[in-house]
Amino acid sequence: MVTYDGFGPEKIVEIYHPKSGMRGFVVLDNLSLGPAKGGVRMTPSVTVEEVSRLARAMTWKNAIAELPFGGGKAGIIADDKDMSAKEKEEFVRAFAEGMKIVSPHLYVSAPDMNMAEEEMRIYATVIGSKKACTGKPKDMGGIPHELGSTGFGLYHATKVACKHYGLDLKKATFAVEGFGNVGWFVAKYLTEAGAKLVAVSDSRGVIYSDKGLNFAKLAKVKQEKGTVTAYGEGKVLPSMEIKKVKADILVTAAIPDLINAGDVDEMKFKIIIEGSNIPMVQEVEELFHKKGVLVVPDFVANAGGVISSYVEYIGKKEKDMWKMVEEKITKNTKMVLDLAKKNKVSPRECAMNIAKERVLAKCDICRI
Ligand code: NAD
Repeated sequence: MVTYDGFGPEKIVEIYHPKSGMRGFVVLDNLSLGPAKGGVRMTPSVTVEEVSRLARAMTWKNAIAELPFGGGKAGIIADDKDMSAKEKEEFVRAFAEGMKIVSPHLYVSAPDMNMAEEEMRIYATVIGSKKACTGKPKDMGGIPHELGSTGFGLYHATKVACKHYGLDLKKATFAVEGFGNVGWFVAKYLTEAGAKLVAVSDSRGVIYSDKGLNFAKLAKVKQEKGTVTAYGEGKVLPSMEIKKVKADILVTAAIPDLINAGDVDEMKFKIIIEGSNIPMVQEVEELFHKKGVLVVPDFVANAGGVISSYVEYIGKKEKDMWKMVEEKITKNTKMVLDLAKKNKVSPRECAMNIAKERVLAKCDICRI
């Protein structure tokens, strides 16, 4: 069941293409700050309910990042592992054809699960506008995902959090959960800034060493052997043990619901930066807040990707992206942490209040 409240979702459009059998939908959660921005995922199990929750998260993320976008998300129900490349292309074309009624004026797409640059090329071409989506190939004005804008933003959020906490980043130790696009870049930037990487996990396990891990070696091992656990020195632990290692900072960058209420007492981090979406529920964040652990919420810290999308959307380039990600993440993380401290609330509660206020200020149809 989709949950409707005082903010939305304003529109849900379902698309069916009888010839190919493609079924898809888009949820436009709230349009008061601009066209709804959020990716399209292709999975066999995607539902309108799942997509509507993700669209709502985008409403808050865009509002906190001060982007002229509302929140949206889309889904195509299909298993691309069971399809030929031609069939997948046909589905994407059929989806884009159907999306002409909302895109680009009300919905700006992007790649999400099982969608990438070439699918965005098809989407923008069928709609007939480069503004229909971001995440396009470079020759269409795209800013590559491989640049690591989200990890770069998380690095700046971590810098701000350390300053706020009174922790010297150069003397800090840190652990990273996940070593994909997000985890890789955050580990790179933080080690370059002088922090000591002591643990990294991927789906195969954790590599831990209190002597520190060498980023270049770790990157090579991951590329060549497929897992950080092949590092060769230090201790190998099960993946979920990343939350129990000893370090000043944990950056989450893999799965949702990594941390639950039962973990809070045992975990010794001073700062947790949420790179992944929903690594813990709000109630658990509140427990950390009471314990004096600084948690920087996902929709504040991991907005580097959508900020990069905005740079692409307005036709600007890579160097503008680095500048805007740094400026926005630094400014908004600092604002949230300072105000949360002043008002004696958790950073999430504070950030949610700011996001809601920003949407309400521009929304004629919202109800509190
Ligand atoms: P990715 O697919 O590139 O990498 C995911 C990594 O997580 C891989 O290294 C994988 O081995 C690892 N992993 C899987 N299961 C694990 C487990 N149980 N324990 C530890 N590691 C595990 O994904 P990504 O783009 O790096 O995204 C990571 C998270 O960040 C996701 O939750 C995603 O929704 C979120 N996020 C990503 C972006 C972005 O721009 N990529 C932006 C915002 C949020």
